[in-house]
Amino acid sequence: MAKRPKQLQETLPRFTNVVRHLWPYIRQHKGKLALSFLALFAEVAFRLLEPWPLAIVLDYVIADSGGQIIPWLQGLSPMALLNVAAISLVVIVGLRALSAYLSTIGFALVGNRVLTEVRGRLYDHLQKLSLSYHGKARSGDLTVRVVGDIGKLQEITVTAVMPFVGNIFILLAMLAVMFFFNWQLALLALVTLPLFWLLSVRLSRNITAVSRDQRKREGAMASTASESIGAIKVVQALSLEDVFSQNFSGENAKSLKEGVRAKRLAARLERSADLLIAVSTALVLWLGARLVISGSLTAGELVVFITYLKNAFKPVRDFAKYTGRLARATAAGERVIDVLEEEPEIRDLPEARPASPFRGRVRFEEVAFGYEPGSRALDGIDFEVEPGGRVALVGPSGNGKSTIANLLLRLYDPQEGQVMVDGRDVREYTLESLRSQVSVVLQDSFLFAASVRENIVFGAGREVSDGEVEAAARLANAHGFIQAMPQGYDTVLSERGSSLSGGQRQRIAIARAAIREAPILVLDEPTTGLDEENEQQVNDALEKLSEGRTTFVITHDLRFAARSDEVLYIENGRVAERGPHADLLRVGGRYAALYQLQAATGRLDPREGGHGALTR
Ligand code: ADP
Repeated sequence: MAKRPKQLQETLPRFTNVVRHLWPYIRQHKGKLALSFLALFAEVAFRLLEPWPLAIVLDYVIADSGGQIIPWLQGLSPMALLNVAAISLVVIVGLRALSAYLSTIGFALVGNRVLTEVRGRLYDHLQKLSLSYHGKARSGDLTVRVVGDIGKLQEITVTAVMPFVGNIFILLAMLAVMFFFNWQLALLALVTLPLFWLLSVRLSRNITAVSRDQRKREGAMASTASESIGAIKVVQALSLEDVFSQNFSGENAKSLKEGVRAKRLAARLERSADLLIAVSTALVLWLGARLVISGSLTAGELVVFITYLKNAFKPVRDFAKYTGRLARATAAGERVIDVLEEEPEIRDLPEARPASPFRGRVRFEEVAFGYEPGSRALDGIDFEVEPGGRVALVGPSGNGKSTIANLLLRLYDPQEGQVMVDGRDVREYTLESLRSQVSVVLQDSFLFAASVRENIVFGAGREVSDGEVEAAARLANAHGFIQAMPQGYDTVLSERGSSLSGGQRQRIAIARAAIREAPILVLDEPTTGLDEENEQQVNDALEKLSEGRTTFVITHDLRFAARSDEVLYIENGRVAERGPHADLLRVGGRYAALYQLQAATGRLDPREGGHGALTR
């Protein structure tokens, strides 16, 4: 189990560490923060004043103790004094309420602003993190960090951190005044403190542990939920609903148990604290009353003392509540910082420059790459494509074809060799300028839950006119069916475009790629899984799209390969055979065998030889 803070002594340094990380964001609100603290100090001061009117009434109105009264109240009649006391009580409480209000609002404002900024930053940062990070992280858990953990931090700064800080000031101020007044009495009041300490250390340790577990559990639950809901089709098709539900309800039940346990522990600490406060109060009352009788303390002063005692001990009583919350805030904060500190593996090098418009010459030079250390997905990949040329990557699944495309897009960096565009290593270009000049059509294109038009425009990365959108859709053979939709281009697609057929989704994706006007095109099995009718439409659209663009096509459909300048047959991460389609057929190796197989099953016309067309 991960190391977790056992108690406040451990939580506090970790909490300050969280604050230190967030300090650059907090610092921007220094002015507001200072004002809020000022209001907080004012509140503490008014709290100190609060019991005094009662003391004055007790000592000088009800029983004239004959003692020295504050100079500027001297000479007032008892009744006038009563009036002054009554009015000042209202004024003091009013001012205290006002300062408390101002400090609460001030802190809440700063807290919320800071955390909203952090959340924005976290979201941006997550999008920049490399695919290898996202490959390992669970997306649901990341969602919880962006939404839940920041939310928790926001809530807790307002409900725990600020009151905690305020209460510490109150505690210190009241203790100081108590000692100033009568140190014997103050010491007596503190007799129970060691007991308090023992009790809260023991209980808050458990509370902290439970709180952290609870937070982790919530991340796990969100992951399970987002995974199963994201893949609901698979879950239902494989009848996995019960498995996921059981899993989820197991976690859910544990979370409930932990929640109740944390509450029970906190309640136990609070009630025990109440008892200890009563013991302290009784002790002070016992000795204090004797002091009053013997004349060394006035009744009013005893009242003030006991009020301070109650106020000073309140934060100690709420200690458990705060340690629990503070622990939760720390856990949430650390989860956020973990992500923020994760450096994107793939990012612009300091010397990276924006690429000028590519001509489209692509070269892989002795490239080797593995997703995991020690394993090789690609090895010794070396080839070059002329601007506007077309390479087909064929071969069995899982042998590294998509990995080649990933390296071209710089989704990963090769461990050896280099990937070059127009004679320069792709790492010399800024990521943005590199990727914006490559269009991608994948096997299962992702459409967003937005209108058809927006889905196409997303590709452009710039302002585009309706005319351009339509032209792209026409090129993609999509204009016809889009117009037939209820709201045409403004039809809002359901999430992932599930309301469209596979072929229609592909054609919208092709329009999205087309509007980009990128000189390099990557097609990763774009027609796999389509029926004949759709396949033909998509093929035809792709043919138009690849016109004049350097095109990489990963495909099992050898009609595509037949139309390429070069075919690379990839096996075990290496180029096993290479050359134009016709040459490879002549050589009679693996590629030729695959081609014969497809021809025999009726997918190809074997007479096409090297002149097969994408379209039939
Ligand atoms: P192809 O495109 O030929 O089907 P890929 O390039 O997708 O093959 O995969 C090549 C190898 O790399 C496979 O063994 C695959 O399991 C592995 N691989 C692909 N993507 C990842 C990833 N994100 N993390 C770890 N291994 C991966």
